[in-house]
Amino acid sequence: MRVKVLGSAAGGGFPQWNCACSNCRRLREGRFSGVGRTQTQLAWQSGPGRWTLLNASPDLRAQIEATPELWPQDGNRHSPISDVVLTGAEVDQAVGLLLLREFHSFRVHATRSVRRILTEDNSMFGVLRRFAGQACWQDIPLDAAFSVDGARLEALSLAGSFPGFIGGARSAESDPAEAVIGLFIAPESGRAVAAVSSPPGKTLAFLPGVGSIPGSLFERLRQCDVLLFDGTFWSDEEPARIPGIGKTASQMGHMPISGPRGTLASLAGLDGSRKIFIHINNTNPILDEESAEHRAVRDAGWEVARDGMEITL
Ligand SMILES: [Zn+2]
Repeated sequence: MRVKVLGSAAGGGFPQWNCACSNCRRLREGRFSGVGRTQTQLAWQSGPGRWTLLNASPDLRAQIEATPELWPQDGNRHSPISDVVLTGAEVDQAVGLLLLREFHSFRVHATRSVRRILTEDNSMFGVLRRFAGQACWQDIPLDAAFSVDGARLEALSLAGSFPGFIGGARSAESDPAEAVIGLFIAPESGRAVAAVSSPPGKTLAFLPGVGSIPGSLFERLRQCDVLLFDGTFWSDEEPARIPGIGKTASQMGHMPISGPRGTLASLAGLDGSRKIFIHINNTNPILDEESAEHRAVRDAGWEVARDGMEITL
């Protein structure tokens, strides 16, 4: 199963339009040892000529254009994109759906709460209801595995909250467990989903926002072959220094990478899988490939996701 990282930055991307932190400034000035990144977005090949998107980032149009596999192939109007799986209702995760509005039919998989926020509270998403069967919404269960076009998925409720833009009534009736999910993704056994045949049982974990790692999650991660894990912030204090945020990484639902309770320390015993940081904020020093922090994550056996990276499950 081919998985492509179309975007690897946190919300805002790298550089971020209104940020002049050391990373963003040096990248713009051509004095940075590293590359720019679009907002986190994945896609996997679900069959010959068919791809599933994981989330729909605000950068989706450019990400599709940068990925020949996602280009239209037949006739005037066509797209290999058949399914979109949403892990939340934030702008970073869902606004790209609006970019898929040009009379193309596809399925959208989201928790019931996320579906209702987008389709019932945000009238702009009506552009996906211009003809019958345009966007076919399917509810993601939290307590059972589900299928998406040849892949077997399992949702894990994460510590995140619903977007700040939702109203009080919607907030009161929504299940907080459905706000933000992580996903475990595996090719459905017995079915070749890509040119490269995959042995059964290969699993990728997509967990871009993790507040802590209880023992049960650690055991689950131990069984995964590839981890795409929360690489948002290097230190707990990092976001508190950004004007307007005023919260620590942990208060935002992100474990920092460093420190005694950070990801490097917490997952040090996890040596059987490929470990990749994704959802990297533009302030994070690991983006600078000459930094001590970048060297520390590489020495600990981690990779730093970049746009265009390909993973074979
Ligand atoms: Zn910045």
